[in-house]
Amino acid sequence: MQCFDRRMAAYLIDMAPSHNVTSSSLLSLPNELLLLIRDNFERWDLLAHACYYQVHSRTEACYARVDGMEFWRHLIYHNGLRVGHPVEGPIEVVWREAALEYAHHAWTCTHPACRRERLATNRDHMQKALSVWHRDHGDGIFVIDSTISIPLPDVESNDIFHYINFNRSFPRHDLDEETRRTLVGKCAFLRASPSVDDGWRTADLLEHHPIAQDSFASLPPINFLRITHDLFDEGAADCEFTHAEGVTVHDALTSLATLLDRRLTQDQVSDLVDREDPWGYVLQGNPSSFPSSWSEQDVMIGVRCVGHWFQLFRWTGFLFDCFDQKGIAAFISCEGKSLPAKVQTHVERYAYPRTD
Ligand SMILES: [Zn+2]
Repeated sequence: MQCFDRRMAAYLIDMAPSHNVTSSSLLSLPNELLLLIRDNFERWDLLAHACYYQVHSRTEACYARVDGMEFWRHLIYHNGLRVGHPVEGPIEVVWREAALEYAHHAWTCTHPACRRERLATNRDHMQKALSVWHRDHGDGIFVIDSTISIPLPDVESNDIFHYINFNRSFPRHDLDEETRRTLVGKCAFLRASPSVDDGWRTADLLEHHPIAQDSFASLPPINFLRITHDLFDEGAADCEFTHAEGVTVHDALTSLATLLDRRLTQDQVSDLVDREDPWGYVLQGNPSSFPSSWSEQDVMIGVRCVGHWFQLFRWTGFLFDCFDQKGIAAFISCEGKSLPAKVQTHVERYAYPRTD
């Protein structure tokens, strides 16, 4: 009991009120009751199971007879996560260790867009989605095959994207995928709030938050994502990402990274300014704050590449609204927010200097 974390104890006691468990009495219970406590946890409560597993060798033994791979793997999946880094070792150990790492991060993270609340939110969305789309598949792993699923499923963007902005260290768009994957973790930030203008002050690199980073980009998860962007660069190659076990936030950002550093030409910006409703496409009916008060020069200063866009607007995620011959397409979705009078002031205040 010496290593028993008080917060874990409080959480476990909260999860098992009917047993009137206290940290001092827990281990005096017979094995049968320890098993009953385990069964009393909500089935997909990753934190409860991870904490209970680590309390003591006797509670750890309560998991000796579960299918080591299936139990922990399903636990991760039902919390809306896909392990994003390569893992090695016996498969049942790998999944368990990954689950314990997520639980540890959930306990120690204080970011409003991550921590315990993110697991709970993901889990709620997964259960809701699976109740609709997965009635025939029990509790198994289910990922929508978005290359063949017709009609369109009710796919929603994970609201983590509301919190994401970028500094100016965008990966060069011509880099290979693995390099972009690494670098996008160093330019994507989690803001403390999607609605607070000074969210940068409390922003933290996304790569420090495995729960946010490894969450599915959509709920329910899809296996194929294409980001469309004809507003910025008509005719350019689409940004695509495929993963059989579900596209994550990090995957989506890796695809998006091919766009961030893409420069807008003067002609393109002029074209944008000349459009009758240039930002309606991404503002989704809320174009009032831009660009009516901005001159073309303002725009040229403020939006020199696609990545700058995300520093000026609050990103709400993707809108999944069409299938084509290759799969599901996701449009970049942003909302207007109160902007300072001078674009440059805004950019200089909130953006980080480029490092390349
Ligand atoms: Zn975190």
